[in-house]
Amino acid sequence: MSETVFDIVILGGGSGGYAAALRGAQLGMKVALIEADKVGGTCLHKGCIPTKALLHAAEVADLTRESEQYGVNATLEGIDMVKVNAYKDQVISRLHKGLQGLVGHHNITYVAGWGTLVAPDAVEVDGTRYQGRAVVLASGSFARTLGIDIGGRVMTSDQALQMDWIPSRAIVLGGGVIGVEFASVWRSFGVDVTIVEALPHLVPNEDEALSKALERAFRKRKIAFKLGARFAGVQQDDNGVVVSLEDGSTLSADVLLVAVGRGPATKDLGYEAQGIPMDRGFVLTNERLHTGVGNIYAVGDIVPGLQLAHRGFQQGIFVAEEIAGLQPAAIVESGIPRVTYCDPEVASVGLTEAQAREKYGDDGVRVSEVNLAANGKSGILKTAGFIKLVGQKDGPIVGVHMIGARLGEQIGEAQLLVNWEAWPEDVAPLIHAHPTQNEAMGEAALALAGKPLHAHN
Ligand code: NAD
Repeated sequence: MSETVFDIVILGGGSGGYAAALRGAQLGMKVALIEADKVGGTCLHKGCIPTKALLHAAEVADLTRESEQYGVNATLEGIDMVKVNAYKDQVISRLHKGLQGLVGHHNITYVAGWGTLVAPDAVEVDGTRYQGRAVVLASGSFARTLGIDIGGRVMTSDQALQMDWIPSRAIVLGGGVIGVEFASVWRSFGVDVTIVEALPHLVPNEDEALSKALERAFRKRKIAFKLGARFAGVQQDDNGVVVSLEDGSTLSADVLLVAVGRGPATKDLGYEAQGIPMDRGFVLTNERLHTGVGNIYAVGDIVPGLQLAHRGFQQGIFVAEEIAGLQPAAIVESGIPRVTYCDPEVASVGLTEAQAREKYGDDGVRVSEVNLAANGKSGILKTAGFIKLVGQKDGPIVGVHMIGARLGEQIGEAQLLVNWEAWPEDVAPLIHAHPTQNEAMGEAALALAGKPLHAHN
């Protein structure tokens, strides 16, 4: 028997689900948020936040190792993984408490337990039905494994984040976002890393110029990678792992990290039984995130597209506003910013040069690229890289692509340029503070507008 009818019942308390809950409550709706594990989901507990803490510890290690270059005499004595994990867990725990507090303050009914969709308007948890005028599916994702047995020395990011020891040698299967971030951390911690990537480039979804620049930077950092290499199998024993590739070669190491993408967590949740349209486990929706069944919406990693926390947040907000009748503008997938926090950082938004050429034709595109070598702050940080702008000829900036230390922080202006359809001619007179790496963005806009200031030709 149902006790209360909610305005929204949300299945899953990760980035998408909790954003829908908070925005729904803010709009005066009665909200139930159902979560089997911990509010905050993958992003907070086993994704974005813990990996970025590890990457920051890695940066501290690198700076210590290279301190002499700055006239500071320090010696890196070692990495204490127990303490690194304590630091990481402290960050998570503080954010988790804050989030629990937010959910409480918004008078959201938080239900701890495994929910199942049992009707188009109801989710059941341990025999109790939570009925909603609208239901939001937000059950998230899991690490794909290609059928590889996970355990011992063969792990996904879930286990790698819990490791209290540092391997001497590691193989990373997959040169996508998780693969390059872990490779970067481990290299900074002194590990010999080899990445195995099936496609011709690292971070293959990025503009090719970024992939090539990252490959150059990784070579310099002595991170090995095999591109166009397909995985055939892995064996492990007490001493290590042996990975075989389809070309017959083998690689050995202490551990194998499997980072070949994330799948939608939609099994055993009753979705199929309620007729939710699905494709290979993903929940299909229209552009307003409605599933076409009852008043059921879906958000986050279960909806095909970029599996990013901030996409989930925005989709959660969108759906809550849609349910409240506010008719929010649909989310444009290509306007979602992407940041990969390896060293050097890779950040982008909008169309790659190749996508822009396909859309507007070769004559319809203009491109500028500003090297960080001329940027004062980049020189101070001793980083290499560039900012590349892709624009429509006689039109707005449609893509921003960046590589270099700390350039992830420049994504704010980049996403405004693309999403507000800024013309380089309008950006050129806007002042970028000196000395910042942000100046390179201004310089790239000047160049795209045909009046580069610091160019040699
Ligand atoms: P991914 O899709 O980014 O990369 C997986 C890579 O594995 C691909 O490049 C693919 O070609 C390769 N691959 C697949 N099968 C292979 C095989 N048999 N042999 C060799 N290579 C193979 O996925 P991911 O890195 O696992 O990340 C999962 C999701 O999490 C992504 O959607 C990502 O956007 C998200 N994520 C985002 C961030 C961030 O925003 N900084 C960080 C981590 C993860």
